[in-house]
Amino acid sequence: MGGFAWVTLATNDSYSLGALVLAHSLRRAGTKHDLAILITPGVTQVMREKLASVYSLVQEVNVLDSKDEANLALLARPELGITFTKLHCWRLTQYEKCVFVDADALVVRNCDELFEREELTAAPDVGWPDCFNSGVFVFKPSQQTFASITSFAAEKGSFDGGDQGLLNSYFSDWAHKDISKHLPFIYNMCSTATYSYLPAYKQFGENVRIIHFIGATKPWLQYFDTETSTVHPPSGCNHLQPLLQLWWNIFCENVYPKLS
Ligand code: UDP
Ligand code: MN
Repeated sequence: MGGFAWVTLATNDSYSLGALVLAHSLRRAGTKHDLAILITPGVTQVMREKLASVYSLVQEVNVLDSKDEANLALLARPELGITFTKLHCWRLTQYEKCVFVDADALVVRNCDELFEREELTAAPDVGWPDCFNSGVFVFKPSQQTFASITSFAAEKGSFDGGDQGLLNSYFSDWAHKDISKHLPFIYNMCSTATYSYLPAYKQFGENVRIIHFIGATKPWLQYFDTETSTVHPPSGCNHLQPLLQLWWNIFCENVYPKLS
């Protein structure tokens, strides 16, 4: 019992590809801590075996759906209800503290120092910086907290239909109470920010620790030329090509050779 773990979630084989790259990125960055993944029945047996080769814990959980179709429709992201499944991470009480990281993220430098932070520590969201982005957050597993958040969810719902709205309502003092619970943006750099504020990316980009590919165009959905080993994002894609290339380099080196 005890110890620290990185935790992610995949409800299907597609997000599992992201989770495999994420796990290898953490290993390459030299983390000392465990890797754990929550999966749902939608992940195939073959994929579970691939995940088990790099995650020390592959835990199946049930899909918790927000059933909040009106709000989700507003976001035009009907699949986001699934992210309520994230709440199961609070049940990993075999660990003392964890950092949740979305499966569409990439760790580019060691960030084990995150485990020095307390629940709930996260970085601001680019869309509304008084909310935290729920793609990277430090939390303390606890059955009690799990019960409390799920009953809060059932009663109050989520203002955006997803886990981010819910968690921001539950941890509602995040914006103003304790600055030590605010992570610098470099721990959850939404790759679209390179597009909306390129000068800042040029100035600070080399300090980035975690890249988060938010939005519908995930790295694994991009066109990849196997002849030249380069990814070709479509014009208008909000993720910078070099960042997508970093993801694909790990995919080619560590994931693809073991897929078949
Ligand atoms: N997720 C999943 N299956 C889905 C959608 C989401 O497993 O169909 C998980 C996955 O870990 C993902 C996280 O929930 O990274 C949050 O969703 P996403 O990253 O797509 O949201 P965004 O960061 O783009 O808002
Ligand atoms: Mn994400």
